[in-house]
Amino acid sequence: MNERAAGAPSRRGFLGTVAAAALITRTGIAAAAPASEAYDFVIAGAGHNSLVTAAYLAKAGFSILVLEGRPTIGGGCKTAEPCLPGFREDMCSSVHGLLMSNPLIRKDELGLLAQGLEYIYPDPVMHIPFPDGRSLTMWQDVERTRAEYAKFSERDARTFVRMLDELGEFRRARAAGKPPSGLWRRRMAMSGYDLVHALFEDDHVRAFHLAVGRFSSVPGGDPGTGMQAYTAIAHQLGGRPIPKGGSGMLSVALGRVIEAHGGVILTSKPVGRLVIEGGRCTGVECLDGSRYRAKRAVVSTIHIRHLVKMAPAELWGADFLAGVDLWQPEHAMFAFHYATSAPLAYPLAGGGEIAPAESTILPYPARILRHSYDDAVGEVVLKDMPLQILCSSVADPSRAPAGHHTLKIIGNLPYGLKEGPEHWDRIKKPVADAILDYVRGFAPGFSREAILAEFLMSPLDIERMNPAMWRGSVHAGRYGPAQMDDMRPVPGWADYRMPIPGLYQTGACTAPGGSITGKPGRNAAIAILADEGMRLDDVIRRG
Ligand SMILES: Cc1cc2nc3c(=O)[nH]c(=O)nc-3n(C[C@H](O)[C@H](O)[C@H](O)COP(=O)(O)OP(=O)(O)OC[C@H]3O[C@@H](n4cnc5c(N)ncnc54)[C@H](O)[C@@H]3O)c2cc1C
Repeated sequence: MNERAAGAPSRRGFLGTVAAAALITRTGIAAAAPASEAYDFVIAGAGHNSLVTAAYLAKAGFSILVLEGRPTIGGGCKTAEPCLPGFREDMCSSVHGLLMSNPLIRKDELGLLAQGLEYIYPDPVMHIPFPDGRSLTMWQDVERTRAEYAKFSERDARTFVRMLDELGEFRRARAAGKPPSGLWRRRMAMSGYDLVHALFEDDHVRAFHLAVGRFSSVPGGDPGTGMQAYTAIAHQLGGRPIPKGGSGMLSVALGRVIEAHGGVILTSKPVGRLVIEGGRCTGVECLDGSRYRAKRAVVSTIHIRHLVKMAPAELWGADFLAGVDLWQPEHAMFAFHYATSAPLAYPLAGGGEIAPAESTILPYPARILRHSYDDAVGEVVLKDMPLQILCSSVADPSRAPAGHHTLKIIGNLPYGLKEGPEHWDRIKKPVADAILDYVRGFAPGFSREAILAEFLMSPLDIERMNPAMWRGSVHAGRYGPAQMDDMRPVPGWADYRMPIPGLYQTGACTAPGGSITGKPGRNAAIAILADEGMRLDDVIRRG
């Protein structure tokens, strides 16, 4: 897949802005970063997490070199124009809700808001249409959402309001350092499917909660997914913020901070090997043969499955390697992008229509339960499949030419097809067409003629675009008791320090995991600064 086809923009800049261009045109060929020069820290990979780490370290006064394998920075936090010029599609993430509690944004520790980062909170927040013509819309206004639940069940509407209080209280207790109560421990240990059934009486309401719960690529049938029952509640409390201009604006702002502190970012620089001297990681070697020396350490966001192949096995230790060997992929994702001449609008039962920035589809609750089986047998089953649909241009008109829109349809389908993953190259187009028709079944006014251009990414394409999304795992690997918290990436190695001295790891393979949270990135910065005898708070206070 060439760079253009992979969704990577031309070297003109991935948002088409002058400032963004300044950031990304410093390719490995063009930029002045002699391989002989040593930096305090060499950062391998430029997803938002490693950019966060790099930005804190740069602010702390260290010299920084970031090496990104692709032509643009950002990884899963990237906006490009793969369909048509002027249509800014979020190649992966769109919604940054989970980032908002991070002091990086909450306290704007790095001054990102002054670097062009601005958030839009779409209203309606979310919409779900059902096959019987009914629908449920979540609005920013709680009373308005409550009324939507009440269309299906007064009892469920009361439960919705009660859950808002419960989640608020739960969060305050956690923020105060209190452990979860027994009741919450039980809720969390349950499956989302079971808890949603215990909480609500109406299947539409249950389907809505399970549909948004599964955006983490974990279907709510698994034990330990109970919090998925509360995901919609979190959306009501916090909204679904999207950066103005595209998800990639976060990466652009981080890149600007790094460069403002003298850091250097080189793109098209895939790292192929760790340089080891005297048992210590002292740099990296790129696939083009260039070597970069790190005076203090290397920070990687390379997928842990790939990273272990980049240094001799004996340096990792048998336990660590065995732990990595057991690392499991998650339900793989596809992303189909469209440039359109109309927004995706759904009819409303009472008349009229609604064009939300975000919608979801799940015709009935039990459909959520078949993901694991389909994955195991490697079959693509499209009937009644759950989907997440973004039409961000509705809330942010800067993303498309006037009167036009961007549309992204995402969902989970097996990476390991029974015919092999490469079979995706043969079936991608018919699968995308079938899914588009399925969506249009809920939005009959949205004609095929409204599609001006498309850019289709199968689970295999997602991995090709970003090797950190191993086997289409957009959060790097499965969420679940075996790969969470102190188990991520490997039990005993969850503090961002790797078994090889001079090597740190951040990104979605590390705690607390994937999504746009910036938490692995900030946590890694805290660990690295501590090893340098510094505190992140002091670095921030320094201004
Ligand atoms: C279609 C889709 C939709 C999504 N929607 C959302 C959403 O709305 N909200 C949300 O919170 N999350 C969403 N996600 C998940 C989210 O994008 C990821 O979990 C997140 O981007 C992970 O960030 P990261 O910084 O850990 O790593 P990544 O973003 O994966 O970045 C890793 C970087 O390292 C680079 N790299 C890898 N190997 C090498 C190497 N050897 N040498 C040099 N560079 C290398 C990669 O090219 C990449 O740039 C979505 C993902 C996808 C695919």
